[in-house]
Order: sequence, then structure tokens, then C-alpha cells
Amino acid sequence: MRIIVTGGAGFIGSHFVRQAVQNQYPALAGAELVVVDKLTYAGRKENLAPVLADPRVRFVQGDICDTELMRDVLRNTDLVVHFAAESHVDRSISGAAEFVRTNVLGTQTLLSAALEAEVGKFVHVSTDEVYGSLDADGTPWTEEEPLSPNSPYAASKASADLLVLAFHRTHGLPVCLTRGSNTYGPYQYPEKIIPLFVSRLLAGRKVPLYGDGANVRDWLHVDDHCHGVALVAGGGEPGEIYNVGGGTELTNRELTGRLLDLLGLDESMVERVADRKGHDRRYAMDISKISGALGYKPAVPFDEGLAATVDWYRRHQGLWGEDA
Ligand code: NAD
Repeated sequence: MRIIVTGGAGFIGSHFVRQAVQNQYPALAGAELVVVDKLTYAGRKENLAPVLADPRVRFVQGDICDTELMRDVLRNTDLVVHFAAESHVDRSISGAAEFVRTNVLGTQTLLSAALEAEVGKFVHVSTDEVYGSLDADGTPWTEEEPLSPNSPYAASKASADLLVLAFHRTHGLPVCLTRGSNTYGPYQYPEKIIPLFVSRLLAGRKVPLYGDGANVRDWLHVDDHCHGVALVAGGGEPGEIYNVGGGTELTNRELTGRLLDLLGLDESMVERVADRKGHDRRYAMDISKISGALGYKPAVPFDEGLAATVDWYRRHQGLWGEDA
């Protein structure tokens, strides 16, 4: 079995590759893995260091918008797992062009190459942010929820989702979509709230909390996220969408409190800053579809996962240079 993993040098993609090589996903055991990654600011080839010497792993530095390269790389491929994306909401607010290029045009380029190569399955890794924003008492989203993205990031991911589904409906390409919730764990570039706050606090710096801090996110450990993606890769039905949630809803204020506790610090390290433009209030997903169909269940207790993540950043301070 030959698997292409786009964005495999980033946070979630590299975890998926490291775990797959260690045969953590029965459906993918023994497969050859080809990582395709442009190595933007968010990707590091070193994230794959534990497995790069394995003969089943090949690394190709390249852009998913490169039609010729994607045609070439996807030849004789059984499975594409598509993680590559511009992934940070704040960056999409200050400049959306790269988000449209990579997330929309890049996904279309891959889909066309996958169609030509007649790949066995195409798993597109998407996000709960495509559903929009929920009130505090709103019912968690099922996969049937209409798309209502707010940030340019979420809009670019929703556009990609529609293209992926269009390639299934028009051409019969065997696609599956996963929609993961806010993911945390080791190897994440320090710009999103958990790695940013941990890195700054470890360096003795204050952390910026947006607005009233009451925005709610559904936290998912990277190991659970990747298990969900692997289950869909192995047994997901073509044309279907699967929510992958973590089940731990916290306000950003509560999350910050947990991080301060883990590091033995107090509120004086928190600086209130103006809210993010268009800041979604709450994300929450119903995961009964993937649980019922594929046996998915988040396994990493949040407090344990968070403590281990803080510990990992403590042991890897300065990994991203000036940023951390
Ligand atoms: P990341 O930013 O850590 O990694 C993205 C990777 O894609 C990087 O290695 C980068 O170099 C690569 N990349 C970017 N543009 C590329 C291009 N044009 N060609 C080839 N490679 C390119 O992101 P992540 O947090 O690991 O997210 C992976 C996927 O999961 C994304 O599709 C994201 O939308 C989705 N997702 C993320 C979260 C989260 O909380 N992080 C939650 C749900 C879904």
C-alpha cells in the first residue's frame, strides 16, 4: 500500500506519519508513506526525525499547487491523506491570499491528480470551523449542519470541502472528509493558543487573552485526531463526512487557568487584549456518526494530554527560535 501524506511535516500530519510508521493504525500497517510538504514556517522536516530513516518513508519537498509534481507524486497511490493547509485563523485575517492558494487551489490540484491517478481513496482533513459559531446553549453540530464559515481560514477550508465533495459527485472520486476540532499536543508551531501560551509562559513572558476570554473550544488531543483520520482512511464510506471531536469544552479563560496551574503561575501573567475580529463564540460537534460507524472514541484525558504537552514544550524550549 502506498500512501501520500500532504502536510506531513506539520503538527498533525507529522504525528500521523510517526504513528503510522510505528504501525499504530491497523488498516495502514506496513504501508509505504510519501510525505509531500512545502516546509512553510509551520512545517519542519525534523518533526519526522524519528521515522525518516525508515525505508517505508520518503520525503518530497514540494507545493501541492504544483500540478506537474502532484501528477508525478500521486502515480500508483492507494490512499491520499490531505493535511497540508495554511491553518492559522489570525494569519488569514491579516492576509487571505495564501489561504485561498493552498487550501482551495492546492486541494483542487491534488483532487485532479488523484482522479488522473485513480487513487483508491482521498481523505480530506477539514475542521469544525466550517460550521460557523454556536451559542452557549446551541446543539452540537452534526455532519448535516449547513456550512457557515466566518474567518477567511474557515471559508477556505469550507471551499475545499465543497470541491472534495464535488469531485465525488461529479467524477466518483472515492473521497472522505474528516472535520476535527481544536487540536493540541507536541510539535505544534507556537502561534495557536496552547503552544503559544505555554512557550511564552516558559520564557517568563505574559500571554494575550482575546476579549472576555469566554470563547469555547472543543479540545482534541492530536493522537485522538489522527486515530479518527486513520479510522476514516481504513473504513470510511466514499462521499461521507465524519466529525472528529475531543469532548472537552473549555472557555479560553478556563484553558488559560489550567496552563497557569500546570506551570505554577498566576493571573498576573495574563494580559487582556482586544478581541479577534469576527471571533467565533463556540465550536461543539456531535461525534455519534464516527463513533457508531467506525468505533471512534477520544482516549486521551484532557488533563493528562495537556500536562504531557506542557512537559514536551518545556523539554523543547527554543525549538522555533525567536518565536518560542
Ligand atoms: P500546520 O500549520 O501545523 O501544518 C501544515 C503543514 O502543511 C505544514 O507542514 C506546511 O509546511 C504544509 N503546507 C502548507 N502549505 C503547503 C503547500 N502549499 N504545499 C505543501 N505543503 C504545505 O497545520 P496542522 O495544525 O497540522 O493542521 C493540519 C490540517 O488539519 C489542516 O488541514 C488543518 O486545516 C486541519 N485541522 C487543524 C486543526 C488544529 O487545531 N490544528 C483542527 C482541525 C483541522
